Amino acid sequence: MPVKVLEEWFNACSGCEISILNMGDALVEMLSELEFVHIPVLMDHKYYGQTGEGSQVEIPEADIAIVSGGIRNEEHKELLEEIRKKCKTLIALGSCATNGGIPALANMWTKDEALKNIYSTITTDSASPPDRVPAWLDRVFAVDEIVKVDIYIPGCPPHPKNIADALTAVLKGESWSLPERSVCDTCPTIREKKASSGTIKRSLENADFDPEKPIDQMRCLMEQGFICLGPVTRAGCRGDSDAPRCIKARIGCRGCFGPIRKGARPMVDMMGAWSSIGLNAQAVPDRRALLNRFIGAHNNLRPLPKR
Ligand code: SF4
Ligand code: SF4
Ligand code: SF4
Repeated sequence: MPVKVLEEWFNACSGCEISILNMGDALVEMLSELEFVHIPVLMDHKYYGQTGEGSQVEIPEADIAIVSGGIRNEEHKELLEEIRKKCKTLIALGSCATNGGIPALANMWTKDEALKNIYSTITTDSASPPDRVPAWLDRVFAVDEIVKVDIYIPGCPPHPKNIADALTAVLKGESWSLPERSVCDTCPTIREKKASSGTIKRSLENADFDPEKPIDQMRCLMEQGFICLGPVTRAGCRGDSDAPRCIKARIGCRGCFGPIRKGARPMVDMMGAWSSIGLNAQAVPDRRALLNRFIGAHNNLRPLPKR
């Protein structure tokens, strides 16, 4: 009997669903074992009956639920709680679901401030969304702040290989998680434990590298003065490649895989990493947003107290 899978997107952009499709051959091989019973990004589904006649949300039972996106409004929360009741294994897919992702940058403001900022810039009619739109929660939540999560697949977007490995494990009745290592642990660049210059460079500048030479002959980007969050970011984006995804493109890690472990303090640790090689952490602009860019849930980003 096929394994029933449901997939739902909340405060999401659909990049996570594209990563599912990007599993390619691995997905095709798995399809004979899977039956997608709910996946609104691909198949229409009415939550309250075909004509909206129902009063309770309808989610089919499934063995595995995959959810992307953070929890921004009351509808997301209601759907997520129902999905948790209907599935055996819940997979949080992508940075938004695991750590809030980019949309959780809004957690730097109160709900009212964020609504005002957004609506006053996109409409002249009203400074708030219409009543028929589901109400916002006070902030953006990661999925595990609302319900129990069994498997975390971080990344913006998540790596298709990790999705394939996680699903394969679940199909075998096994658990799956990324190892608690940093992006630096999987990066082949040359490190000399000191910065080549004391200044922080803008990412618009080109890194110093020879395109004819392999990546293991390039100096570490952080030591070149670029902002690279590799020291405080969980490894897993390298896949079968010879370097982490952004480093391979010769740009610094932005931190999309989130903290190396639960309870880590990437902001403090990154300031320490800069200082340890002679870079002035105070010179990094907008550090609070930059170092929490993908992890604004779990109270990592909060409105600053009024002065
Ligand atoms: S994690 Fe990235 S790709 Fe996935 S929904 Fe969020 S923004 Fe989109
Ligand atoms: S700081 Fe960046 S470039 Fe340097 S080793 Fe770590 S991941 Fe690689
Ligand atoms: S290098 Fe960093 S930002 Fe780039 S994909 Fe990997 S974890 Fe994400």
